[in-house]
Amino acid sequence: MTFLALDIGGTKLAVRAVKAGRTWERIEPWPRDGVESDLALLRDVLTALPSDVVRAGVSAAPTVDSEGHVTAWPSRPSWCGLDLRRTIEETVGAPVLFGDDGTLAAVAEAEVTGCADLVYLGLGTGVGGGVVSDGRLIRGAWGNAGELGHLPMDPAGPPCRCGRGGCLQALLSPEALSRRTGLSPKELAASGQVAAFVADVLARVVVLLSELVQPSRVHLGGGFGVALPGLPARVEERSLAWSRRGHRLPAVATAVFGAHASLAGAMVLARTGETGLRQSRSA
Ligand SMILES: [Zn+2]
Repeated sequence: MTFLALDIGGTKLAVRAVKAGRTWERIEPWPRDGVESDLALLRDVLTALPSDVVRAGVSAAPTVDSEGHVTAWPSRPSWCGLDLRRTIEETVGAPVLFGDDGTLAAVAEAEVTGCADLVYLGLGTGVGGGVVSDGRLIRGAWGNAGELGHLPMDPAGPPCRCGRGGCLQALLSPEALSRRTGLSPKELAASGQVAAFVADVLARVVVLLSELVQPSRVHLGGGFGVALPGLPARVEERSLAWSRRGHRLPAVATAVFGAHASLAGAMVLARTGETGLRQSRSA
């Protein structure tokens, strides 16, 4: 019995398989020349895994509809229209469940910490997130609540890839920060000034979320989020400076699963077949 987790990210594919306590893992950057090469890589990675897959959980950066088709992916537009569910099901011979990368990461972080009120914020190619409140994943009326990357932060802010202006992602993605500062991605991650700017913006998000859902923990993940020096402490410090008297704020920490929280969440989906959380919650 093999459980399979895939993280289909903006720049890379990560796959983890678990069978009787043994773990296989592969992380591969996407090729540069479009969906056919991407799919060749995907099939190559999947066919090298144990063949008795029970279920696959997929953390997907693209927007995937309920049928499993990719409906939007600004990072890799050639994927639009792809029947992703069938592609993976045909290769692994098992049912495939999809989840948003940010919400799956929130589920994984809530499960591993036993925390019933946790917000996850991932800073990677884009900005994603998820909200677990009172032991439940917040899904909303149409099923995709918790898109924290598109929190409207500034009506006059830079354009976001979603078509609106001033989203959190439009302020904090490495691409946006590179444009703003002229620094390379490597220089961004090492810059104290950039970390201070990111912390200022995230502190506003933490205060906003505290008024809305009162999390006890905010976990920061994503490749860029975990690379910025001292980010959690900076965010906590700045949010405290903006707190209301007599009101507690959440502890801010690096995600337990670091930059791999979405993959861990995809494994929760593969293992349990859902992301309800409730029955496994204790706190
Ligand atoms: Zn947006």
